[in-house]
Amino acid sequence: MKIDFDAVIIGAGFGGMYMLHRLRGEGFSARVLEAGKGVGGTWYWNRYPGARCDVESVQYSYQFSKELEQEWEWTERYATQPEILRYANHVADRYDLRRDMRFETLVTRATFDDTNNVWTVETDKGDRLVARYVITAMGCLSSPNTPKIEGLADFKGPTYHTGNWPHEGVDFTGKTVGVIGTGSSAIQSIPIMAQQAKHLTVFQRTANYTIPAHNRKLDPAYVKQVKAAYPEMRRRAKTKPAGIDFDMPTQAAADTPEAERNAKFQERWDYGGLGFMASFTDLLLNDDSNKAAADFVKSKIREIVKDPVTAEVLTPRNIIGCKRLCVDSGYWETFNRPNVTLVDIRDEPIERITPTGVRAKGKDFDVDCLVLATGFDAMTGALLKVDIRGRGGVALRDRWNEGPKTYLGLTVVGFPNLFMITGPGSPSVLTNMLPSIEQHVDFITDCLVALRAKGVTAIEAVDAAQEEWIGHVGSVADITLRSTCSSWYVGANIPGKPRVFMPYIGGLPRYIERCEAVVAEGYSGFALTS
Ligand code: NAP
Repeated sequence: MKIDFDAVIIGAGFGGMYMLHRLRGEGFSARVLEAGKGVGGTWYWNRYPGARCDVESVQYSYQFSKELEQEWEWTERYATQPEILRYANHVADRYDLRRDMRFETLVTRATFDDTNNVWTVETDKGDRLVARYVITAMGCLSSPNTPKIEGLADFKGPTYHTGNWPHEGVDFTGKTVGVIGTGSSAIQSIPIMAQQAKHLTVFQRTANYTIPAHNRKLDPAYVKQVKAAYPEMRRRAKTKPAGIDFDMPTQAAADTPEAERNAKFQERWDYGGLGFMASFTDLLLNDDSNKAAADFVKSKIREIVKDPVTAEVLTPRNIIGCKRLCVDSGYWETFNRPNVTLVDIRDEPIERITPTGVRAKGKDFDVDCLVLATGFDAMTGALLKVDIRGRGGVALRDRWNEGPKTYLGLTVVGFPNLFMITGPGSPSVLTNMLPSIEQHVDFITDCLVALRAKGVTAIEAVDAAQEEWIGHVGSVADITLRSTCSSWYVGANIPGKPRVFMPYIGGLPRYIERCEAVVAEGYSGFALTS
């Protein structure tokens, strides 16, 4: 059987890029197939105004190369999308990655051949590539969700989705704009769109919690200091559940007097960012502690937003941190602007989109352009867009019709030689994605090296191991309040999607420990075929 490549990698984001680099380093042949025209994955597509990472730039970066780490200069505390995309391109240039990548090539199908233990990968360009392994690096938040709102196709003006933004940018100057959604993407883009637009109307179904970023230019002296101590920072980060080096709490809010508790919340608020949820140990474990944190943020909304009715509509009713916490620059302040209107659609969904705007609550809101900040079919959406067929022609779509089942978020029973980078059942979206990606890529590379040495041609998770892992993922999810609300973590944003808490919430250190044990036990939980 002629094999074109040892591995086909789907996606040229941070996962696919590093995967290619590692495989090449070990003497494997690999081809990356990417739908976009360039590298960068999520940072290639998400070009909406204000897009930036909510993990600090000095931590949201590769650590596999000391030279790369030292030569790249981050300029802001939270890097903007253009800066992160420049970084991705720098990495692609530095390691000459593009020669093994094919862009504007969409993978449509991947079929496992039981007899020869190889995959055939088909694309919209008519390619048929045969490879021993398929490695998906398609991202967790990469399949945009366009809600089925009646009349959407009839709208006469332009409609933009934050997750697939025009590369040339959009100038809203002098325009009336309607934004649907108030998640992270909306919360980042609304303040900037409001500065440009003649009028901005925000349609909010669920009010969200957001913490100020307090973004700033990075002081070169600080960057120098970080670079000098990078190994220690990276080592500390690996001991933290989210893979981010920030001060971990030692005390429970439940055991802390109110004044002291609020002082701590204030301290974290002033520092800014996602670390707010690490004010205390029990914010996602204890209802009262969660309420204390939520009340603190609600008091900030009332302080910042001048109109009490608008403040009330902006005040979230769910628990804090259940949906993904947002990080903003001037979000609530934006609702004090005279050119911004908030429409509460919590109890009455948008009736329809008309040719000239949005009809909601029995009223027509005419707009020149529509922005859908409506998120993604998270964690499984991109994978299931590809027709992936395992043993006996079984479709992954069918195998997962009750929700994704994986072993370690890396592999699936019945789909030998298929690896997923940051798949469902791995820590992925609950962590700093870059170290999680690197850990997965290193695991996969080491595994392929070991299989080559042993002359193994197929590796497949065994059922008992997958069931045990899925049981563990579910049981740790049940301990926290995070699994209790209608979030994309549980697929609740996509009508008809099975409700399963998809990421592994046990934390990166515990996950790494488990992967290391699997390797030490000679790839326990996997069946190997020579
Ligand atoms: P999202 O958090 O899923 O938010 C989508 C918004 O659209 C929600 O407010 C949702 O309301 C609303 N929506 C969806 N369908 C609707 C409908 N039919 N009618 C009215 N409203 C509707 O998506 P996102 O903001 O793109 O963020 C997704 C994730 O990407 C984030 O949680 C984060 O992990 C990541 N992200 C990160 C950054 C960053 O690093 N700073 C930035 C952007 C995104 P409901 O809540 O009621 O469903």
